[in-house]
Amino acid sequence: MPPALVIQKYGGTSLATVERIQQVAHYIRSTIRPPTQAVVVVSAMGSFTDEWVALAADVHPNPPQREMDMLLTAGERMTAALLAMALEKEGLHAISFTGSQIGILTDSTHGNAKIHRILGDRLRKSLEAYQIVVIAGFQGVDPQTKEVTTLGRGGSDLTAVALAATLRADRCEIYKDVEGIYTADPRAISSARRLPHLSWESACILSGSGAQVLHDRAANLACKYEIPIHIHSSLAPSQPGTVIEGHTRPMETPHFVALTDKKDLVYLDLMLTGCGAIQPIYEWLCSRGDIPQLWSLRRIDDQIELQLSLELAHASAYMEFLTIQCKKVECKRKLSIHLFSIVGTGFSQSHTLLETITILLGEALLLLEIQHGVIQIGVKPESGEESRERLHRAFSWSVG
Ligand code: ASP
Ligand code: MG
Repeated sequence: MPPALVIQKYGGTSLATVERIQQVAHYIRSTIRPPTQAVVVVSAMGSFTDEWVALAADVHPNPPQREMDMLLTAGERMTAALLAMALEKEGLHAISFTGSQIGILTDSTHGNAKIHRILGDRLRKSLEAYQIVVIAGFQGVDPQTKEVTTLGRGGSDLTAVALAATLRADRCEIYKDVEGIYTADPRAISSARRLPHLSWESACILSGSGAQVLHDRAANLACKYEIPIHIHSSLAPSQPGTVIEGHTRPMETPHFVALTDKKDLVYLDLMLTGCGAIQPIYEWLCSRGDIPQLWSLRRIDDQIELQLSLELAHASAYMEFLTIQCKKVECKRKLSIHLFSIVGTGFSQSHTLLETITILLGEALLLLEIQHGVIQIGVKPESGEESRERLHRAFSWSVG
């Protein structure tokens, strides 16, 4: 039998200082015992990425994306080398690689590249020679142009899950600065509870609607390849965290899993005339990593009614692009909203939900959409904090 293989991923906060890097190395030594092998994926130390994004903006207001990728991939590479050194100091045989060196092949979209495949040969060979292989997260290479690419902000989670799928790892562990996934953000809601278990589908909806704990593309990949993910705190790694595994079973009665939210969104109700293709618009948004939280369209004769919500900061760039793509864009309604997503199952079967939510939120409620596995609720921004409290209180006990 081949030795067991564990993928571990550590976020930037878990590796923010020399001391933290040493703690992580020590923890790896205590958990990965021969013949078990580990591939350890790292993010850039602390707030490196944010700081260098800001620095680049000081040099150029709109820096070339290729150069941004050259710049930002350095953060993960430095952390990987430092962790490999710390592991050697712990007496483990370790080596670090960039995404490009181990054949993480992507498309050519700088700043938000998609993984096409991972060659994995060099990685497998290295695992024969070294017990621990450290990989710089969030990066790959376009095999055609040989250019280095990044997978989008927070993309190291994606590297870890993609490697777990390629190598058919026995375990995939993600270490964060929080103890797992909660029924709401524990920093905002003190009664939020840790979820010991979450289905792949619920994890996809949660991470896609603003929960910071797992990258949404990583959640989607885990669901597609059915990879169990163990989320733990790097500060208290032996505490039980959250396991993401299994599919959501359809249930007769509504079942609440968790509440998540996004602030500073704008809701646009648009009428487009002469717009041949919505597809280029959606492709353009995706290439920017700018997926609308709500997105619905309706054709009325030769016009298209498009309703969507997206980050307030990107609203003008989006309107500009739409105006170029379509002959005429009429903005019928533009609202600043705070958007909540309640994730669970069986919501569309409840007769009382609509009434419960409208009474609960009163005048603050701006929009409401109930689907089987998710309820999306837009409220006035000034009512965001209070609505979060009310929704969590109502939903964590009963969903009527
Ligand atoms: N360092 C990158 C970022 O901050 C990638 C990551 O942390 O996963 O976006
Ligand atoms: Mg980071």
